[in-house]
Amino acid sequence: MGEIKQPNIIFIMSDDHAAHAISAYGSRINETPNLDRIANEGMRLDNCFCTNSICAPSRASILTGKYNHINGVKTLYQDFDARQQHVGKILQVNGYQTAMIGKWHLGHGGNSDPTGFDYWNIFPGQGAYHDPEMIEMGEKKKIPGYATDITIDLCLDWLEKRDEEQPFFLMCHHKAPHRPWDPDEKHQHLYEDIDIPEPETFNDDYDTRTYAAFEAEMRIDRDLRKRDVKGEPPEGLSASELKSWYYQRYIKDYLRCIASIDDNVGRLLDYLDEKGLTDDTMIIYTSDQGFFLGDHGWYDKRFMYEESLRMPFLIRYPRSIKAGSATDAFALNVDFAQTFLDYAGIQSPEDMQGTSLRPIFEGATPNDWQSSMYYRYWEHLDPEHNVAAHYGIRTHRYKLICYYGEGFGLPGTSDKKLEPVWELFDLEQDPHELKNVYDHPNYQDAVKELKEQLYGLKEKVKDFD
Ligand code: CA
Repeated sequence: MGEIKQPNIIFIMSDDHAAHAISAYGSRINETPNLDRIANEGMRLDNCFCTNSICAPSRASILTGKYNHINGVKTLYQDFDARQQHVGKILQVNGYQTAMIGKWHLGHGGNSDPTGFDYWNIFPGQGAYHDPEMIEMGEKKKIPGYATDITIDLCLDWLEKRDEEQPFFLMCHHKAPHRPWDPDEKHQHLYEDIDIPEPETFNDDYDTRTYAAFEAEMRIDRDLRKRDVKGEPPEGLSASELKSWYYQRYIKDYLRCIASIDDNVGRLLDYLDEKGLTDDTMIIYTSDQGFFLGDHGWYDKRFMYEESLRMPFLIRYPRSIKAGSATDAFALNVDFAQTFLDYAGIQSPEDMQGTSLRPIFEGATPNDWQSSMYYRYWEHLDPEHNVAAHYGIRTHRYKLICYYGEGFGLPGTSDKKLEPVWELFDLEQDPHELKNVYDHPNYQDAVKELKEQLYGLKEKVKDFD
């Protein structure tokens, strides 16, 4: 492809929106026509992964192009030091108009307020769904309405007021569909008369898995609270009926929140069409990580298992990306920053740790493209969900995970030490990760090789514990 001028970039990120709740990814449980529009007019990434599946750490990696042990946000309990280098700052000093609107979730006040943005207007912390308080350039204001609508209203306002002579970089971050899954009025009766199908692994008994799966506190039938499901179950249900009741209550509200996102993404796409901006604007839809939608009997994320590890990633940029394309090449959240810089024609700083995704977007994936990824969840036995810390490697065929059993005194971790244990999944034979084959004699060569690769990657990304 020849030289293209600096694109406008709109990065839409929702919170906890799993790829398997997007129809472009073959969802069995909902339809997302406007998100699908991005995929149909652009590209769908089928192997986009998060390097640490929780909110703040993923956001810090996206901004900095660095892993959490480098950018300092290993757990939810560590605020981002916004004095460090990140993609917003670099685009800003190189002539982009920049804005950060919606969920920042990297701390606020002190050194954690957004930097590198000409305009910012964020929810404090998790933010509220209804009549949210927002912090506009340091000033608190309560805004009437629904968070998802407000986020897009503010984006459209900012786009209207921008200087049309300069390219722009807009980070549009939804609060939805994060817990406690409060839908808006428009969608609150959606799915009322139907049952949403349960996932195949809904009744997983964790057989062959390590203590980590057994001990996690994110079970649909045990750990959801009254606030989450907005009421009490009817009396007289059997255990399995009760589990189904909780699932229906949870998943319907989750999907209702997504329906509002989908409508609002449609508004933004229509605006780009109306203003003649579609061809010159790269627009992305992603989420900070995946989510369990009843898979393995769970809600929430954190684990390196597929539903949590995988990020949806849809991108449209007609000047450079073929409509209706898809790729299974690996892409990581640490790659996004360098990708934007590449398209803007700006050299990435040496210390960014990702790779520009431009070749895979343009259908020119090199033969030596990354075919393994390093993952690390640091928040050992976190107070909310009791998930054991782990690191691991995923290749196209395998996933090897080590629950190494300690928190290293990090904020949000437990002092409790556990024996290190391992899990290996053969994703070709067992895509749902139900059978840990770590001790199986047929897999001992794979274990040996994957461990070498894992320690190699750990060192390569400079994670020295
Ligand atoms: Ca999240």
